[in-house]
Amino acid sequence: MAKRAFLTITLLAAAALAQTASARPFDDPRASQFPALDNDAAANTEPRDPACHALTLAATGGAMPKNAGTLAVRWTGFANYELVYNGQILLLDAYFDRGRLYPSLGFKADDIKRANGILLGHGHFDHMSDAASVGARTGAIVVGAPVTTEKLATQAIEAKQVRTVTGRGGEEFQLGSFKIEPILGRHGEPPPTLVDAFEGALRRTAKQPTDEELAEQVAIRARGTSDRRVVAEGTIAYLITLDSGFRIYYRNSGGRVTDYEKAAMARVGRVDLALAAVAASYLNNLTAEQGLEYLRVYKPDVFMPAHHDAANHGLWRAIEPVFQALKDEKPDLVTVSKTYREPTCFDTRVNNGKPR
Ligand SMILES: [Zn+2]
Repeated sequence: MAKRAFLTITLLAAAALAQTASARPFDDPRASQFPALDNDAAANTEPRDPACHALTLAATGGAMPKNAGTLAVRWTGFANYELVYNGQILLLDAYFDRGRLYPSLGFKADDIKRANGILLGHGHFDHMSDAASVGARTGAIVVGAPVTTEKLATQAIEAKQVRTVTGRGGEEFQLGSFKIEPILGRHGEPPPTLVDAFEGALRRTAKQPTDEELAEQVAIRARGTSDRRVVAEGTIAYLITLDSGFRIYYRNSGGRVTDYEKAAMARVGRVDLALAAVAASYLNNLTAEQGLEYLRVYKPDVFMPAHHDAANHGLWRAIEPVFQALKDEKPDLVTVSKTYREPTCFDTRVNNGKPR
């Protein structure tokens, strides 16, 4: 009897220990690199933070991170990202209702009820098609290049919500706890011979879309611009600095790094997190080369890809060869790629802006 009681107590103690060990708000992907995160005894006794585990965006009614220093990041297809920090929501790009030819993101533009800001990297439809409707519903400020906001001016959103930026300097602004610096980037320019060859092959082999599916795509495409200025004047990168000092660099098209970007990065040195598009060049050596340029200029601790998914009958852009090339050059780089809406959380009190 005594033996059984002892066993019960031992089991209970073990269960309690296990619970303590797993009771951690979230796993910061940098924990294996930074002892400050791994050994944070105080944080390790806090309960799991639902905002860092649930598949629901804060923008569609999901939880906000419990700690003011926690950043929750969710990829939602193409170059869309949701950043949630200190009670505020920043959406990067807005292309959610992609039509039946695309895999579902698990929510619709209509489901987005809350956002403080929408930063548009450029005005092609696959980056801005839902910016006006989401902006109008949430009251979020919508930011983009002149060619992007010219399009917004034709859509159902109030002009006072729209901010035009050129990325040529002196445009830094504060949105809640996010300090935002627009920087002129450049759109991707994949080699036409490759694009023609791959798109031709996909067209010949993929299931032909129905008339309804095509009509749906025409309507979605009409909510973006195809102005040629997008390439050199219409692609904006954003350097986002949280009030904790944590820096994020957002780059929504896989184009060459500009002198404006190099100057901005020479000033700040490096970022904690890069959210950067995989180039549309199809071949792994070319997408890796573009990723390496980002690594060398932005100098991130963590790299998360964007613009790598595709229509149901298309071809996703492989991220593993990019990750391999980046890690060959910088073995301690942390690479993270998740599925739609899966959160990644960071304890932003640990960052490059502070000694650690
Ligand atoms: Zn584009």
